[in-house]
Amino acid sequence: MIDADVAIIGGGPVGATLALALQDKGLRLMVLEARPDPMPPADPRVIALSYGSRLILQRLGVWSALAPSVTPIRSIHVSQRARLGRTVLSAQECGVPELGCIVEYGVLYGALAGALARAGIPVLYDAQARRVTSTLESATVHYVHAGRPGVVYAALLVVADGGKGLTEIPGIRRDVQDYGQAALVAQVETELPHHHVAYERFTTRGPVALLPHGERTYALVWTETPEIAQALCELDETDFLRRLYDHFGDRQGAFLAVRDRGVFPLRLACARPVTGRRLAVIGNAAQTLHPVAGQGFNLGLRDAWELARLIGEIRREQLGSPAMLQRYRARRCLDREGGILFTDFLVRVFSNGLPGLGALRGHGLNLLETCLPAKRFVADKMMFGARG
Ligand SMILES: Cc1cc2nc3c(=O)[nH]c(=O)nc-3n(C[C@H](O)[C@H](O)[C@H](O)COP(=O)(O)OP(=O)(O)OC[C@H]3O[C@@H](n4cnc5c(N)ncnc54)[C@H](O)[C@@H]3O)c2cc1C
Repeated sequence: MIDADVAIIGGGPVGATLALALQDKGLRLMVLEARPDPMPPADPRVIALSYGSRLILQRLGVWSALAPSVTPIRSIHVSQRARLGRTVLSAQECGVPELGCIVEYGVLYGALAGALARAGIPVLYDAQARRVTSTLESATVHYVHAGRPGVVYAALLVVADGGKGLTEIPGIRRDVQDYGQAALVAQVETELPHHHVAYERFTTRGPVALLPHGERTYALVWTETPEIAQALCELDETDFLRRLYDHFGDRQGAFLAVRDRGVFPLRLACARPVTGRRLAVIGNAAQTLHPVAGQGFNLGLRDAWELARLIGEIRREQLGSPAMLQRYRARRCLDREGGILFTDFLVRVFSNGLPGLGALRGHGLNLLETCLPAKRFVADKMMFGARG
């Protein structure tokens, strides 16, 4: 018995994108979302959407709802603390109107949820998937909706639960490496206007990023050990701003105010493989990355987009078949492994106090600065993924 051609666990940014990308394919869709409703959640994170992601969201008709709330990034200044070496990636040099833009997680979630409702895609809110099983014919989700148990059978089940929902997915293991780091996020007001410049500054304890968000506000992502991040989160405002100034420096003048602080533990978690019998995992459920290069959602969005494209290319009876799932794995391999390796490389090589490495990093950044084709190559991969 099949209730849905495609059932999706998780109506977060990636699951919702997949459902929207499948809306015109004549399939019976079902989304199970644990949150109680489509209202934007209070999540202090902001997301740097790459220019490539913006193009996908435009094609899905979501962009008009997001556009009033986003702040464009026109250049990214990359440097290391207390060391020489820097490079600047600019939209102009890369031949695009902007490298990306900043949006609040809650705004993104709300815009996608609104688009799901307008498209009439069935989303069961307050539905928590508890267990998944699968046979050669279908995948089965056991869930609890508003306190009552329910079951869905699907030809293809897609797990987009962010990697935090299901503890077990048949045929898939999760490799997890703890970075021993946490991200402190906050909104900070600066003395000087941002002029749409984002900063990524590497320190031996982890990167610190300032992302333009609103008028004179920056979204801060400050990586530290979990203990220090929590202590910073609890500091009073004056002490916090002084510590931030000491850590980041004076490129934006003084830090004037801080609000909406929150802490996220950081780790690398990879599902291997990303498909099982009648099922696929996408987004953070497939790979949870360090936010250092702002790649997590952008990569997950491309998982959803490529999966929907593949489903559009195959015959209906091939949906969820081993051959279809093998093609999905092959298509996503380069982009996914590239994103994982790139992010992990940045964390390990740029957050490292090994003697000599600081000078080497400085040379690398300076070399990049003088080589426009190399800069364009890096920016291109960050905007559009390994497959362009
Ligand atoms: C501090 C920080 C900064 C970041 N910055 C960036 C950035 O600049 N750029 C970028 O691209 N990425 C960034 N990321 C990563 C980005 O947040 C994630 O990649 C993205 O949220 C993944 O979306 P998702 O839909 O896969 O998972 P999630 O956002 O986790 O959504 C999962 C959804 O599934 C639902 N769910 C969970 N369990 C169940 C269940 N059992 N049943 C039903 N529903 C369930 C949840 O309620 C949720 O709605 C950042 C992450 C952090 C922590």
